[in-house]
Amino acid sequence: MDILDIAIIGGGPAGLTASIYAIRSGLKAVIFDKGIYGGQANQAPWIENYPGFDEISGMDLMDKMRAQAMKYVEIKDSENVESITKDDRNFIVKTSKEEYHFRSVIYATGSVHRRLGAPGEGRLLGKGVSYCATCDGFFFKDKKVAIIGGGNNAATEAIYLKKLGTDVTIVHRRDELRAEDSHKDTIVEMGINVVYDSVVEEILGENMVEGIRLKNVKTGDISDLNFNGVFISIGDIPQTELVKDMGVDIDDSGYIVVDKAQRTNIPHFYTAGDVSGGFRQIITACSEGAIAANSAHEDLAKPYWT
Ligand code: NAP
Repeated sequence: MDILDIAIIGGGPAGLTASIYAIRSGLKAVIFDKGIYGGQANQAPWIENYPGFDEISGMDLMDKMRAQAMKYVEIKDSENVESITKDDRNFIVKTSKEEYHFRSVIYATGSVHRRLGAPGEGRLLGKGVSYCATCDGFFFKDKKVAIIGGGNNAATEAIYLKKLGTDVTIVHRRDELRAEDSHKDTIVEMGINVVYDSVVEEILGENMVEGIRLKNVKTGDISDLNFNGVFISIGDIPQTELVKDMGVDIDDSGYIVVDKAQRTNIPHFYTAGDVSGGFRQIITACSEGAIAANSAHEDLAKPYWT
């Protein structure tokens, strides 16, 4: 039976960078990626804070990272990891296709979009409700949409849709956006509407989105506004399902706890990227991937039980 050095779970910026560093340091690694490669970074309409590129779409940046990683590593696409267990020495990674054994794991599964939980959200998903402006924005050119959320994602999606020619309104639950100042300035410059202090009571529509019912959290007033689409952008949930039974430490917000070298409490098990929280940027995911690969390299060079 072949036992490789590292299973890298997740093909986003963290996993791809980890693979480049791992293999260049002489380790044997494989990436498992269950779906559309590139993770959530792939969905970023554009990126202006990744050094080396004044402006690049998430998809283009991930294409470049993936092409570079593939010079080194095998990426097992669409191979869903179903479980990770550990015997007295190695990790057993069971996928939808096979079972593999590894000396260590870099867990870089990222996060998924948080659901709003409003009535109508599930029923109208794909019928005007979306979590990704890059994927679905084109259908709303010249139409009217609401973006729910006040963070960087909500801001970039709002700006992206406005540039497409969409009539955009941001709906935020507080009286101030969380997004960085440069995004806030652009929102003002582009004349994007913002409705503050409001939460979505219901997404309205029979077969397609027709609007949203809002509640003003300060006055209690209820109002119905007409929209053709609702983009929900209220943060992420780290994907930790696979490690919950392994005894990996997870903090109160659901992120995997790591030290500065991306080591978890389980020997030879590392994480990188959004699943371990922190600043959650593409650049930091890459950095964490590189650090995790280096830690794996250092640890594999030691006698196992030290
Ligand atoms: P985020 O920064 O966590 O913001 C989530 C937003 O959704 C917050 O404004 C929050 O409101 C709101 N929210 C959360 N739960 C809600 C609910 N149940 N109902 C209504 N509103 C709710 O998440 P994000 O914007 O998705 O970004 C994720 C990470 O990626 C962040 O670290 C972000 O900085 C990063 N990112 C960076 C860039 C960039 O250009 N640098 C672009 C995209 C993403 P409150 O403000 O009231 O908490």
